[in-house]
Amino acid sequence: MNTTLIAMGIAALLAIGLVLNVAIISLLSGAFHFLFARPRLDILKSEFGEHGFAFSFSWNSAREPGKFDKVKVRLFNPFGTPTQVEVIKAFDGASSDFARDVYMGIGMKKLLAANGLGNATIEVEVSSSTDSLTQSFSYKAQKFMEMLGQANSTVKKFEGELPAPSAKPLFQTVQRSFISEPLPEGGKTIKLSTNPEFAGDFASGGSTEAAEENFSVSKVWIDPGCIVCNACEAIFPEVFEVTDDSCLIRPGAPLDNGLLIQEAAEACPVEVIKFVKVG
Ligand code: SF4
Repeated sequence: MNTTLIAMGIAALLAIGLVLNVAIISLLSGAFHFLFARPRLDILKSEFGEHGFAFSFSWNSAREPGKFDKVKVRLFNPFGTPTQVEVIKAFDGASSDFARDVYMGIGMKKLLAANGLGNATIEVEVSSSTDSLTQSFSYKAQKFMEMLGQANSTVKKFEGELPAPSAKPLFQTVQRSFISEPLPEGGKTIKLSTNPEFAGDFASGGSTEAAEENFSVSKVWIDPGCIVCNACEAIFPEVFEVTDDSCLIRPGAPLDNGLLIQEAAEACPVEVIKFVKVG
């Protein structure tokens, strides 16, 4: 009887010890991640001045792989002017520790020149358009301005300080060759793009969809709500002109490239570009 009780007591103590160990290890791992492996954004000095935003971004791609390719800077300024500015730009994607100096356009200048920032907030969002990853960093606007003003390290300097990539191990692949059996007799043919018999199947680069036909528009205009992100002007500068606080249609703008106007309308983050197709 006594022996059984002692054995049960030892088993209970061992079980409690195991649970405590697991809890301590997971606490330590959480603390380690919080202190050393959190995503991190540092503001750098942009070579585009007030039209640019330069930053470095650290992401643990071993923990969650992804390719970041978009940055958004957003001002919430409820008691100042303007009350809200949002600038979004794409950049060439990267996955872990990287720095980019992105030309943000007139929107960034407007954001930096906003008045009454006492209660304003600035949010920087780095995201991936392919991997559904978004990381946001929120700052008091005045703190953000201070950090921008004090930034003296550039992207080039940041990249110069990154450790040199270690040499990749060399793998040797086994060379194999494959020789097919001759085609059976009886006029069989292979479906290749170079075979005139199948030329029609490979028209339009092998795609089964016909190329979209261009069209003209009779009218194009901008509804209220433009956030001067510059996307439309980057796509079709002959038609769209982004000013300090809105977007205009240039006088005498060519209206015969409806596909490009449609592309600009689709790229507009607030969907204020409208047009009417001819016919
Ligand atoms: S119209 Fe749209 S795409 Fe053009 S600047 Fe304004 S918000 Fe950007």
